[in-house]
Amino acid sequence: MAKKKDISKYLHAHMDKQAGIAHSQKRTKIVATVGPACDTYDKLLQLVKAGVNVFRLNFSHGTHKDKRATIKHIRKIIKEEPYNIAILGDLQGPKLRVGDLYKNQLLLKEADEIIFTSQPCKGNCDKVYISYEHLTKDAKVGERIFLDDGKIEVRVTEIINKTDLRVTVIIGGLLLPKKGVNLPDSTLSLPAITKKDMEDIEFCIDQKIDWIALSFVRKPSHIADLKKLIHARASKIKVIGKIEMPEALKHLREIILESDGIMIARGDLGVEIPIEQVPVIQKDIIRKCMHRAKPVIVATQMMESMMERTKPNRSEVSDVANAVMEGADAVMLSGETALGQFPVQVVKTMSKIIEEVEKTVYEYNREDILTPQSHSPSFLSDAICYSACKLAKDGQADALVGMTQSGYTGFTLSSFRPKCPLYVFSKEKSLITQLSLSWGVRAFYYPEEESLDGILNDQLDILKERGFLKSGDVVVNTGSTPVELHLPTNIIKISRIT
Ligand code: PEP
Repeated sequence: MAKKKDISKYLHAHMDKQAGIAHSQKRTKIVATVGPACDTYDKLLQLVKAGVNVFRLNFSHGTHKDKRATIKHIRKIIKEEPYNIAILGDLQGPKLRVGDLYKNQLLLKEADEIIFTSQPCKGNCDKVYISYEHLTKDAKVGERIFLDDGKIEVRVTEIINKTDLRVTVIIGGLLLPKKGVNLPDSTLSLPAITKKDMEDIEFCIDQKIDWIALSFVRKPSHIADLKKLIHARASKIKVIGKIEMPEALKHLREIILESDGIMIARGDLGVEIPIEQVPVIQKDIIRKCMHRAKPVIVATQMMESMMERTKPNRSEVSDVANAVMEGADAVMLSGETALGQFPVQVVKTMSKIIEEVEKTVYEYNREDILTPQSHSPSFLSDAICYSACKLAKDGQADALVGMTQSGYTGFTLSSFRPKCPLYVFSKEKSLITQLSLSWGVRAFYYPEEESLDGILNDQLDILKERGFLKSGDVVVNTGSTPVELHLPTNIIKISRIT
Protein backbone atom coordinates (compact mmCIF):
# COMPACT_ATOMS: atom_id res chain seq x y z
CA MET A 1 0.00 0.00 0.00
CA ALA A 2 1.56 3.31 -1.05
CA LYS A 3 2.19 5.85 1.71
CA LYS A 4 0.09 9.03 1.36
CA LYS A 5 2.31 12.08 0.89
CA ASP A 6 1.73 15.66 1.93
CA ILE A 7 0.62 17.33 -1.28
CA SER A 8 -0.16 20.71 0.25
CA LYS A 9 2.92 22.28 -1.36
CA TYR A 10 1.37 21.61 -4.78
CA LEU A 11 -1.85 23.34 -3.79
CA HIS A 12 -1.06 27.03 -3.76
CA ALA A 13 -3.09 28.94 -1.20
CA HIS A 14 -5.05 30.80 -3.85
CA MET A 15 -5.80 27.68 -5.89
CA ASP A 16 -8.86 26.54 -3.99
CA LYS A 17 -11.55 24.25 -5.28
CA GLN A 18 -13.17 27.12 -7.09
CA ALA A 19 -10.10 27.55 -9.27
CA GLY A 20 -10.94 24.60 -11.48
CA ILE A 21 -14.44 25.86 -11.95
CA ALA A 22 -13.25 29.39 -12.68
CA HIS A 23 -11.08 28.03 -15.51
CA SER A 24 -12.60 27.91 -18.95
CA GLN A 25 -13.36 24.38 -20.07
CA LYS A 26 -12.47 25.11 -23.70
CA ARG A 27 -9.93 22.75 -25.26
CA THR A 28 -8.70 24.82 -28.22
CA LYS A 29 -6.22 27.39 -26.96
CA ILE A 30 -6.12 31.12 -27.70
CA VAL A 31 -2.89 32.95 -28.58
CA ALA A 32 -3.16 36.73 -28.16
CA THR A 33 -0.60 39.22 -29.47
CA VAL A 34 0.45 41.85 -26.94
CA GLY A 35 0.57 45.49 -28.00
CA PRO A 36 -0.37 48.96 -26.76
CA ALA A 37 -4.07 47.98 -26.52
CA CYS A 38 -3.46 45.37 -23.82
CA ASP A 39 0.03 45.67 -22.29
CA THR A 40 -0.91 46.70 -18.73
CA TYR A 41 -1.13 44.15 -15.89
CA ASP A 42 -4.89 44.67 -15.53
CA LYS A 43 -5.63 44.29 -19.24
CA LEU A 44 -3.43 41.19 -19.55
CA LEU A 45 -5.22 39.61 -16.56
CA GLN A 46 -8.59 40.43 -18.10
CA LEU A 47 -7.49 38.74 -21.32
CA VAL A 48 -6.38 35.64 -19.37
CA LYS A 49 -9.71 35.50 -17.55
CA ALA A 50 -11.45 35.83 -20.93
CA GLY A 51 -9.59 32.76 -22.24
CA VAL A 52 -6.03 33.58 -23.40
CA ASN A 53 -3.56 30.70 -22.92
CA VAL A 54 -0.52 32.08 -24.74
CA PHE A 55 0.74 35.64 -25.13
CA ARG A 56 2.65 36.41 -28.35
CA LEU A 57 5.37 39.04 -28.31
CA ASN A 58 5.82 40.27 -31.87
CA PHE A 59 9.48 41.23 -32.44
CA SER A 60 8.53 43.13 -35.62
CA HIS A 61 7.29 45.90 -33.32
CA GLY A 62 8.23 47.52 -30.01
CA THR A 63 11.36 47.47 -27.88
CA HIS A 64 12.98 44.96 -25.55
CA LYS A 65 12.13 47.33 -22.70
CA ASP A 66 8.37 47.07 -23.47
CA LYS A 67 8.62 43.31 -23.79
CA ARG A 68 10.49 42.99 -20.51
CA ALA A 69 7.65 44.86 -18.76
CA THR A 70 5.02 42.63 -20.42
CA ILE A 71 6.89 39.45 -19.41
CA LYS A 72 7.02 40.74 -15.82
CA HIS A 73 3.23 41.24 -15.81
CA ILE A 74 2.60 37.77 -17.28
CA ARG A 75 4.90 36.12 -14.71
CA LYS A 76 3.06 37.96 -11.92
CA ILE A 77 -0.25 36.59 -13.25
CA ILE A 78 1.19 33.05 -13.34
CA LYS A 79 2.46 33.43 -9.75
CA GLU A 80 -0.63 34.98 -8.24
CA GLU A 81 -3.49 33.50 -10.26
CA PRO A 82 -4.37 29.86 -11.06
CA TYR A 83 -3.36 30.05 -14.74
CA ASN A 84 -0.39 28.66 -16.68
CA ILE A 85 0.26 31.10 -19.48
CA ALA A 86 2.90 30.49 -22.16
CA ILE A 87 4.97 33.28 -23.72
CA LEU A 88 5.70 33.03 -27.44
CA GLY A 89 8.33 35.28 -29.04
CA ASP A 90 7.67 35.76 -32.75
CA LEU A 91 10.87 36.76 -34.61
CA GLN A 92 10.63 39.22 -37.47
CA GLY A 93 12.84 37.07 -39.71
CA PRO A 94 14.17 38.26 -43.08
CA LYS A 95 11.13 40.39 -43.95
CA LEU A 96 11.70 42.44 -47.10
CA ARG A 97 10.45 46.02 -47.12
CA VAL A 98 10.41 49.10 -49.31
CA GLY A 99 12.51 52.00 -47.96
CA ASP A 100 11.58 55.55 -47.07
CA LEU A 101 9.73 57.55 -49.71
CA TYR A 102 10.07 61.14 -50.79
CA LYS A 103 6.81 62.88 -49.66
CA ASN A 104 6.11 59.72 -47.60
CA GLN A 105 3.99 58.17 -50.32
CA LEU A 106 4.08 57.21 -53.97
CA LEU A 107 1.15 56.60 -56.28
CA LEU A 108 1.85 53.67 -58.61
CA LYS A 109 -0.50 53.46 -61.60
CA GLU A 110 -1.13 50.50 -63.89
CA ALA A 111 1.51 50.28 -66.71
CA ASP A 112 3.90 52.68 -64.92
CA GLU A 113 7.57 51.68 -65.23
CA ILE A 114 9.84 52.12 -62.22
CA ILE A 115 13.25 50.92 -60.99
CA PHE A 116 13.61 48.81 -57.86
CA THR A 117 17.08 49.06 -56.34
CA SER A 118 18.99 47.33 -53.55
CA GLN A 119 21.00 50.57 -53.04
CA PRO A 120 19.51 52.50 -50.08
CA CYS A 121 17.82 55.73 -51.29
CA LYS A 122 14.72 57.81 -50.61
CA GLY A 123 12.17 56.52 -53.11
CA ASN A 124 10.49 58.64 -55.79
CA CYS A 125 8.61 58.02 -59.05
CA ASP A 126 11.83 56.80 -60.74
CA LYS A 127 13.41 54.55 -58.12
CA VAL A 128 12.34 52.71 -54.95
CA TYR A 129 14.65 51.00 -52.44
CA ILE A 130 13.93 47.34 -51.59
CA SER A 131 15.76 45.98 -48.51
CA TYR A 132 17.23 42.94 -50.24
CA GLU A 133 20.84 42.75 -51.37
CA HIS A 134 20.22 39.76 -53.69
CA LEU A 135 17.26 41.44 -55.42
CA THR A 136 18.68 41.38 -58.95
CA LYS A 137 20.22 37.93 -58.49
CA ASP A 138 17.03 36.21 -57.27
CA ALA A 139 14.28 38.01 -59.22
CA LYS A 140 14.04 37.00 -62.90
CA VAL A 141 12.40 38.76 -65.85
CA GLY A 142 8.69 37.87 -65.96
CA GLU A 143 8.44 37.21 -62.20
CA ARG A 144 5.97 39.08 -59.96
CA ILE A 145 6.78 41.26 -56.97
CA PHE A 146 4.04 42.16 -54.46
CA LEU A 147 4.01 45.25 -52.25
CA ASP A 148 1.95 45.99 -49.13
CA ASP A 149 0.44 42.52 -48.51
CA GLY A 150 -0.09 41.98 -52.21
CA LYS A 151 -2.25 45.09 -52.68
CA ILE A 152 0.20 46.35 -55.35
CA GLU A 153 1.59 44.00 -58.01
CA VAL A 154 4.48 44.61 -60.42
CA ARG A 155 6.30 42.40 -62.92
CA VAL A 156 10.07 42.38 -63.60
CA THR A 157 10.81 43.51 -67.18
CA GLU A 158 14.61 44.04 -67.15
CA ILE A 159 17.60 43.33 -64.94
CA ILE A 160 19.57 46.55 -65.44
CA ASN A 161 22.71 45.92 -63.36
CA LYS A 162 23.88 44.36 -60.08
CA THR A 163 21.61 46.56 -57.95
CA ASP A 164 18.74 47.72 -60.18
CA LEU A 165 15.89 46.11 -62.03
CA ARG A 166 12.97 47.57 -63.97
CA VAL A 167 9.36 46.63 -63.20
CA THR A 168 5.98 47.40 -64.78
CA VAL A 169 3.00 48.01 -62.52
CA ILE A 170 0.24 45.43 -63.04
CA ILE A 171 -2.04 46.45 -60.14
CA GLY A 172 -1.46 50.00 -58.90
CA GLY A 173 -2.06 51.67 -55.57
CA LEU A 174 -0.71 54.17 -53.07
CA LEU A 175 2.63 52.92 -51.72
CA LEU A 176 3.64 53.95 -48.20
CA PRO A 177 7.15 53.71 -46.64
CA LYS A 178 8.36 50.43 -45.05
CA LYS A 179 5.58 48.32 -46.56
CA GLY A 180 6.30 44.58 -46.95
CA VAL A 181 7.64 43.08 -50.18
CA ASN A 182 6.98 39.53 -51.40
CA LEU A 183 8.61 37.73 -54.33
CA PRO A 184 6.32 34.70 -54.66
CA ASP A 185 7.82 33.44 -57.93
CA SER A 186 11.49 33.67 -56.91
CA THR A 187 13.74 31.28 -55.01
CA LEU A 188 15.23 33.53 -52.36
CA SER A 189 18.71 33.35 -50.88
CA LEU A 190 17.64 35.09 -47.67
CA PRO A 191 19.39 34.21 -44.41
CA ALA A 192 17.22 32.11 -42.05
CA ILE A 193 18.14 34.25 -39.03
CA THR A 194 19.00 37.95 -39.32
CA LYS A 195 21.22 40.09 -37.06
CA LYS A 196 18.09 41.53 -35.43
CA ASP A 197 16.72 38.00 -34.90
CA MET A 198 19.99 37.04 -33.16
CA GLU A 199 19.56 39.91 -30.69
CA ASP A 200 15.91 38.96 -30.13
CA ILE A 201 16.82 35.28 -29.63
CA GLU A 202 19.36 36.30 -26.96
CA PHE A 203 16.63 38.35 -25.29
CA CYS A 204 14.16 35.43 -25.38
CA ILE A 205 16.76 33.07 -23.89
CA ASP A 206 17.65 35.54 -21.12
CA GLN A 207 13.97 36.02 -20.33
CA LYS A 208 13.37 32.21 -20.35
CA ILE A 209 10.27 32.51 -22.50
CA ASP A 210 8.51 29.30 -23.62
CA TRP A 211 8.36 29.30 -27.40
CA ILE A 212 10.16 31.10 -30.27
CA ALA A 213 8.50 31.30 -33.70
CA LEU A 214 10.82 31.55 -36.70
CA SER A 215 9.41 33.56 -39.62
CA PHE A 216 9.88 32.77 -43.34
CA VAL A 217 11.15 29.23 -42.74
CA ARG A 218 11.92 27.59 -46.07
CA LYS A 219 13.82 24.45 -45.09
CA PRO A 220 14.05 22.16 -42.04
CA SER A 221 17.69 23.25 -41.60
CA HIS A 222 16.43 26.75 -40.67
CA ILE A 223 14.65 25.26 -37.65
CA ALA A 224 17.69 23.10 -36.84
CA ASP A 225 19.93 26.21 -36.92
CA LEU A 226 17.72 28.02 -34.41
CA LYS A 227 17.56 24.94 -32.17
CA LYS A 228 21.37 24.74 -32.19
CA LEU A 229 21.59 28.35 -30.97
CA ILE A 230 19.06 27.65 -28.22
CA HIS A 231 20.69 24.41 -27.08
CA ALA A 232 24.15 26.01 -27.09
CA ARG A 233 22.81 28.32 -24.38
CA ALA A 234 21.33 25.30 -22.49
CA SER A 235 17.88 26.85 -22.95
CA LYS A 236 14.67 24.78 -23.02
CA ILE A 237 12.77 27.10 -25.35
CA LYS A 238 10.76 25.21 -27.97
CA VAL A 239 10.67 26.26 -31.62
CA ILE A 240 7.69 26.98 -33.86
CA GLY A 241 8.14 26.98 -37.63
CA LYS A 242 5.98 29.60 -39.37
CA ILE A 243 4.60 28.31 -42.65
CA GLU A 244 4.28 31.31 -44.94
CA MET A 245 6.48 30.62 -47.97
CA PRO A 246 5.79 28.38 -51.01
CA GLU A 247 9.19 26.74 -50.48
CA ALA A 248 8.15 25.69 -46.96
CA LEU A 249 5.18 23.84 -48.45
CA LYS A 250 7.60 21.78 -50.56
CA HIS A 251 9.41 20.67 -47.38
CA LEU A 252 6.36 20.63 -45.12
CA ARG A 253 6.75 17.12 -43.70
CA GLU A 254 10.44 17.65 -42.80
CA ILE A 255 9.77 21.10 -41.32
CA ILE A 256 6.98 19.67 -39.13
CA LEU A 257 9.28 16.86 -37.97
CA GLU A 258 12.11 19.29 -37.13
CA SER A 259 9.88 21.86 -35.35
CA ASP A 260 8.30 21.56 -31.91
CA GLY A 261 5.21 23.34 -33.22
CA ILE A 262 3.85 25.04 -36.33
CA MET A 263 2.12 28.34 -37.08
CA ILE A 264 0.03 28.66 -40.23
CA ALA A 265 0.92 32.31 -40.89
CA ARG A 266 -1.93 33.01 -43.27
CA GLY A 267 -1.00 36.70 -43.69
CA ASP A 268 2.15 36.18 -45.72
CA LEU A 269 1.05 32.75 -46.95
CA GLY A 270 -2.01 34.37 -48.58
CA VAL A 271 0.29 36.75 -50.45
CA GLU A 272 2.89 34.17 -51.44
CA ILE A 273 0.44 31.61 -52.85
CA PRO A 274 -2.96 32.04 -54.57
CA ILE A 275 -5.18 33.02 -51.65
CA GLU A 276 -7.90 30.50 -52.59
CA GLN A 277 -5.44 27.68 -51.85
CA VAL A 278 -4.98 28.72 -48.20
CA PRO A 279 -8.03 26.93 -46.65
CA VAL A 280 -7.15 23.51 -48.08
CA ILE A 281 -3.47 23.95 -47.15
CA GLN A 282 -4.53 24.94 -43.62
CA LYS A 283 -6.55 21.74 -43.28
CA ASP A 284 -3.66 19.63 -44.58
CA ILE A 285 -1.10 21.25 -42.24
CA ILE A 286 -3.37 20.79 -39.20
CA ARG A 287 -3.86 17.11 -40.02
CA LYS A 288 -0.13 16.52 -40.54
CA CYS A 289 0.69 18.29 -37.24
CA MET A 290 -1.88 16.24 -35.32
CA HIS A 291 -0.39 13.08 -36.81
CA ARG A 292 3.10 14.10 -35.62
CA ALA A 293 1.84 15.40 -32.23
CA LYS A 294 3.11 18.92 -32.94
CA PRO A 295 0.94 21.82 -31.70
CA VAL A 296 -0.42 23.89 -34.59
CA ILE A 297 -1.63 27.51 -34.51
CA VAL A 298 -3.98 29.05 -37.08
CA ALA A 299 -3.02 32.71 -37.36
CA THR A 300 -4.05 36.04 -38.84
CA GLN A 301 -7.25 37.94 -39.54
CA MET A 302 -9.44 35.57 -37.51
CA MET A 303 -11.49 38.39 -35.93
CA GLU A 304 -10.07 41.39 -37.82
CA SER A 305 -13.34 43.35 -37.97
CA MET A 306 -13.40 43.41 -34.14
CA MET A 307 -10.48 45.84 -34.19
CA GLU A 308 -13.12 48.51 -34.61
CA ARG A 309 -16.42 46.80 -33.81
CA THR A 310 -17.87 44.95 -30.85
CA LYS A 311 -19.23 42.09 -32.98
CA PRO A 312 -17.41 39.88 -35.50
CA ASN A 313 -18.41 39.25 -39.11
CA ARG A 314 -20.32 36.01 -39.77
CA SER A 315 -17.43 34.79 -41.93
CA GLU A 316 -14.97 35.36 -39.07
CA VAL A 317 -17.12 33.27 -36.72
CA SER A 318 -17.07 30.50 -39.33
CA ASP A 319 -13.30 30.85 -39.76
CA VAL A 320 -12.64 30.33 -36.02
CA ALA A 321 -15.23 27.52 -35.83
CA ASN A 322 -13.69 25.83 -38.87
CA ALA A 323 -10.17 25.92 -37.37
CA VAL A 324 -11.57 24.34 -34.18
CA MET A 325 -13.38 21.61 -36.15
CA GLU A 326 -10.22 20.90 -38.16
CA GLY A 327 -8.44 20.25 -34.86
CA ALA A 328 -6.09 23.24 -34.51
CA ASP A 329 -4.36 23.38 -31.13
CA ALA A 330 -4.72 27.13 -31.03
CA VAL A 331 -6.27 30.09 -32.83
CA MET A 332 -4.40 33.38 -32.84
CA LEU A 333 -5.28 37.05 -32.51
CA SER A 334 -2.86 39.67 -33.85
CA GLY A 335 -3.92 43.31 -34.29
CA GLU A 336 -7.24 42.47 -32.64
CA THR A 337 -5.63 42.34 -29.18
CA ALA A 338 -2.43 44.31 -29.87
CA LEU A 339 -3.99 47.42 -31.38
CA GLY A 340 -7.77 46.97 -31.50
CA GLN A 341 -10.39 48.87 -29.54
CA PHE A 342 -11.95 45.79 -27.92
CA PRO A 343 -9.19 43.35 -26.91
CA VAL A 344 -11.13 41.74 -24.02
CA GLN A 345 -14.37 41.54 -25.97
CA VAL A 346 -12.62 39.83 -28.90
CA VAL A 347 -11.11 37.13 -26.63
CA LYS A 348 -14.49 36.58 -24.93
CA THR A 349 -16.16 36.23 -28.34
CA MET A 350 -13.49 33.82 -29.57
CA SER A 351 -13.83 31.73 -26.38
CA LYS A 352 -17.61 31.54 -26.87
CA ILE A 353 -17.22 30.35 -30.46
CA ILE A 354 -14.72 27.69 -29.38
CA GLU A 355 -16.90 26.50 -26.49
CA GLU A 356 -19.98 26.30 -28.67
CA VAL A 357 -18.24 24.26 -31.36
CA GLU A 358 -16.58 21.95 -28.83
CA LYS A 359 -19.95 21.37 -27.13
CA THR A 360 -21.73 20.30 -30.26
CA VAL A 361 -19.23 18.94 -32.78
CA TYR A 362 -16.73 16.18 -32.32
CA GLU A 363 -15.33 15.85 -35.81
CA TYR A 364 -11.73 16.43 -34.77
CA ASN A 365 -11.68 13.29 -32.67
CA ARG A 366 -9.23 11.65 -35.04
CA GLU A 367 -7.86 8.80 -32.98
CA ASP A 368 -9.52 6.16 -35.17
CA ILE A 369 -7.88 7.52 -38.32
CA LEU A 370 -4.47 8.65 -37.15
CA THR A 371 -3.28 5.53 -35.35
CA PRO A 372 0.33 5.07 -34.18
CA GLN A 373 2.71 3.80 -36.85
CA SER A 374 4.44 0.51 -36.04
CA HIS A 375 7.62 1.58 -37.89
CA SER A 376 8.00 4.69 -35.73
CA PRO A 377 10.80 4.65 -33.11
CA SER A 378 8.26 5.99 -30.58
CA PHE A 379 5.64 3.36 -31.49
CA LEU A 380 5.48 1.70 -28.04
CA SER A 381 4.79 4.89 -26.07
CA ASP A 382 2.57 6.23 -28.90
CA ALA A 383 0.53 3.02 -28.69
CA ILE A 384 0.15 3.41 -24.91
CA CYS A 385 -1.05 7.02 -25.34
CA TYR A 386 -3.41 6.01 -28.14
CA SER A 387 -4.80 3.10 -26.11
CA ALA A 388 -5.22 5.32 -23.03
CA CYS A 389 -7.29 7.76 -25.11
CA LYS A 390 -9.33 4.91 -26.56
CA LEU A 391 -9.87 3.40 -23.11
CA ALA A 392 -10.94 6.80 -21.76
CA LYS A 393 -13.42 7.11 -24.62
CA ASP A 394 -14.79 3.55 -24.41
CA GLY A 395 -14.91 3.65 -20.60
CA GLN A 396 -16.53 7.13 -20.65
CA ALA A 397 -13.77 8.28 -18.30
CA ASP A 398 -14.03 11.64 -16.56
CA ALA A 399 -10.31 12.38 -16.88
CA LEU A 400 -7.14 11.32 -18.61
CA VAL A 401 -3.96 11.92 -16.61
CA GLY A 402 -0.45 11.75 -18.07
CA MET A 403 3.11 12.24 -16.86
CA THR A 404 5.80 13.78 -19.02
CA GLN A 405 9.47 14.71 -18.73
CA SER A 406 10.32 15.79 -22.26
CA GLY A 407 6.79 16.94 -23.09
CA TYR A 408 6.37 14.07 -25.55
CA THR A 409 3.60 12.24 -23.66
CA GLY A 410 1.76 15.53 -23.08
CA PHE A 411 1.86 16.44 -26.77
CA THR A 412 1.02 12.88 -27.84
CA LEU A 413 -2.01 12.44 -25.54
CA SER A 414 -3.25 15.83 -26.74
CA SER A 415 -2.77 14.86 -30.41
CA PHE A 416 -5.46 12.17 -30.12
CA ARG A 417 -7.88 14.97 -29.07
CA PRO A 418 -9.42 12.95 -26.17
CA LYS A 419 -12.95 13.94 -25.29
CA CYS A 420 -12.49 13.88 -21.49
CA PRO A 421 -10.36 16.53 -19.73
CA LEU A 422 -6.60 15.96 -20.06
CA TYR A 423 -4.30 16.67 -17.09
CA VAL A 424 -0.53 16.39 -17.48
CA PHE A 425 1.98 16.30 -14.62
CA SER A 426 5.66 17.12 -14.99
CA LYS A 427 8.68 17.78 -12.83
CA GLU A 428 10.03 19.97 -15.64
CA LYS A 429 8.91 23.49 -14.74
CA SER A 430 9.38 24.87 -18.26
CA LEU A 431 6.82 22.36 -19.60
CA ILE A 432 4.05 23.56 -17.30
CA THR A 433 3.71 26.78 -19.26
CA GLN A 434 4.90 25.40 -22.64
CA LEU A 435 2.05 22.85 -22.65
CA SER A 436 -0.47 25.72 -22.48
CA LEU A 437 -0.24 25.86 -26.27
CA SER A 438 -1.28 22.22 -26.63
CA TRP A 439 -4.91 21.32 -27.31
CA GLY A 440 -6.83 20.39 -24.16
CA VAL A 441 -3.80 20.13 -21.85
CA ARG A 442 -3.92 21.49 -18.31
CA ALA A 443 -0.47 21.00 -16.78
CA PHE A 444 0.65 20.64 -13.14
CA TYR A 445 4.06 20.77 -11.52
CA TYR A 446 4.92 17.60 -9.61
CA PRO A 447 8.59 16.64 -9.01
CA GLU A 448 8.29 13.58 -6.70
CA GLU A 449 9.75 10.30 -7.89
CA GLU A 450 9.31 7.70 -5.14
CA SER A 451 6.89 4.97 -6.21
CA LEU A 452 4.54 4.84 -9.17
CA ASP A 453 1.55 4.06 -6.91
CA GLY A 454 2.42 7.00 -4.70
CA ILE A 455 2.79 9.33 -7.70
CA LEU A 456 -0.54 8.28 -9.21
CA ASN A 457 -2.35 8.65 -5.86
CA ASP A 458 -0.84 12.11 -5.35
CA GLN A 459 -1.88 13.20 -8.83
CA LEU A 460 -5.49 12.18 -8.18
CA ASP A 461 -5.42 13.87 -4.76
CA ILE A 462 -4.10 17.10 -6.30
CA LEU A 463 -6.82 17.02 -8.96
CA LYS A 464 -9.48 16.35 -6.29
CA GLU A 465 -8.21 19.16 -4.07
CA ARG A 466 -8.11 21.57 -7.03
CA GLY A 467 -11.74 20.71 -7.86
CA PHE A 468 -11.10 18.89 -11.14
CA LEU A 469 -12.18 15.42 -9.89
CA LYS A 470 -14.81 14.15 -7.49
CA SER A 471 -15.76 10.83 -5.88
CA GLY A 472 -17.05 8.29 -8.35
CA ASP A 473 -15.12 9.73 -11.33
CA VAL A 474 -13.39 7.24 -13.61
CA VAL A 475 -9.79 8.15 -14.42
CA VAL A 476 -7.30 6.74 -16.92
CA ASN A 477 -3.65 7.32 -15.94
CA THR A 478 -0.52 6.82 -18.00
CA GLY A 479 2.93 6.61 -16.45
CA SER A 480 6.29 4.96 -16.62
CA THR A 481 7.85 2.23 -14.52
CA PRO A 482 10.39 1.66 -12.98
CA VAL A 483 10.10 5.33 -11.96
CA GLU A 484 13.84 5.85 -11.44
CA LEU A 485 14.69 4.84 -15.04
CA HIS A 486 12.65 7.68 -16.59
CA LEU A 487 11.54 5.51 -19.49
CA PRO A 488 9.04 6.65 -22.09
CA THR A 489 5.38 6.15 -21.08
CA ASN A 490 4.80 2.40 -20.65
CA ILE A 491 1.77 1.81 -18.39
CA ILE A 492 -1.98 2.51 -18.32
CA LYS A 493 -4.11 2.35 -15.18
CA ILE A 494 -7.85 2.81 -14.91
CA SER A 495 -9.46 3.56 -11.54
CA ARG A 496 -12.51 5.04 -9.87
CA ILE A 497 -12.09 7.88 -7.37
CA THR A 498 -13.25 6.87 -3.90
C1 PEP B 1 1.39 36.02 -40.83
O1 PEP B 1 2.00 36.35 -41.84
O2 PEP B 1 0.25 35.56 -40.84
C2 PEP B 1 2.07 36.15 -39.52
C3 PEP B 1 1.53 35.71 -38.41
O3 PEP B 1 3.31 36.71 -39.55
P1 PEP B 1 3.65 38.20 -39.11
O4 PEP B 1 4.53 38.04 -37.93
O5 PEP B 1 4.34 38.76 -40.27
O6 PEP B 1 2.34 38.85 -38.78
